Amino acid sequence: SPHIGASAQTGASPHIDTEASAPAIEFKDVEKRFGKTTVLENLNFTVAPGERVTLIGPSGSGKTTILRLVMTLEELTGGYIFIDGRPLTFEDRDGKRVELPKKTTRAMTTRIGMVFQQFNLFPNMTVIENIIEAPIHVLGKSKDEAVADAKSLLERVGLSEKADEHPTRLSGGQQQRVAIARALAMSPEILLLDEVTSALDPELVGDVLAVLRDIAETTDITMLLVTHEMQFAREVSDRVMMFDGGLVLEEGPPDLIFNDPSHERTRSFLSSVL
Ligand code: ADP
Repeated sequence: SPHIGASAQTGASPHIDTEASAPAIEFKDVEKRFGKTTVLENLNFTVAPGERVTLIGPSGSGKTTILRLVMTLEELTGGYIFIDGRPLTFEDRDGKRVELPKKTTRAMTTRIGMVFQQFNLFPNMTVIENIIEAPIHVLGKSKDEAVADAKSLLERVGLSEKADEHPTRLSGGQQQRVAIARALAMSPEILLLDEVTSALDPELVGDVLAVLRDIAETTDITMLLVTHEMQFAREVSDRVMMFDGGLVLEEGPPDLIFNDPSHERTRSFLSSVL
């Protein structure tokens, strides 16, 4: 079966590491302001290695900002994010908060993959060129190896016959599956998924979710996702976190949050999206 990277154990059922190892992701007293607007304040949570956590909540509650902070697409204005126990952009030194060099940050985010609502493929490259670009230039893979790996990934997402097409010739759902293959080509330890089906026509959503379900079932990749597909969230999540106004209103296993939420705000949010 196709190989999707060192951290992926193909065929093995996913498990949560119960050893006392560092969390895959830790937010500690995270604050994010845009100018005078505070979007996140005193945010604390951890994601265990191999865990699948879904962020839900009304628009504007800070979910996308959380993913973008992990990917270092936004700068922290307070607190710390740790990846595998190591500070991502700031650390404490001599009692001071010190910014880490960009080089350190880049090395840490190499194994974090992100798929966006808008697929963000390189339009001037073919499908396979999109997938091999970072493995060659960032991981230093040979072209032959990168192409062989990309072909297995395209098979995995059901797009073997599209390798030499340009993205603009593909449907939105196909483009999104290429974007997923491109993220997997970097053998991510962490996959961030930001409303990856929201921009798709309804009939194209199913194929994309099927690919993600397959990845969830056959790998140990840690996943942090934002989605309005509640059935999908229920199937793949170990834990669901309900956000409201930049705070975690409640969290728990999907059955609990979806069937028996504690907060009226969660109930009204769920009835608006289900
Ligand atoms: P969600 O994903 O839950 O819809 P976001 O994280 O996208 O929420 O946004 C949270 C808040 O941060 C919103 O009020 C949004 O307007 C604001 N915000 C996000 N990005 C920026 C930005 N680059 N500049 C100013 N405000 C922003």
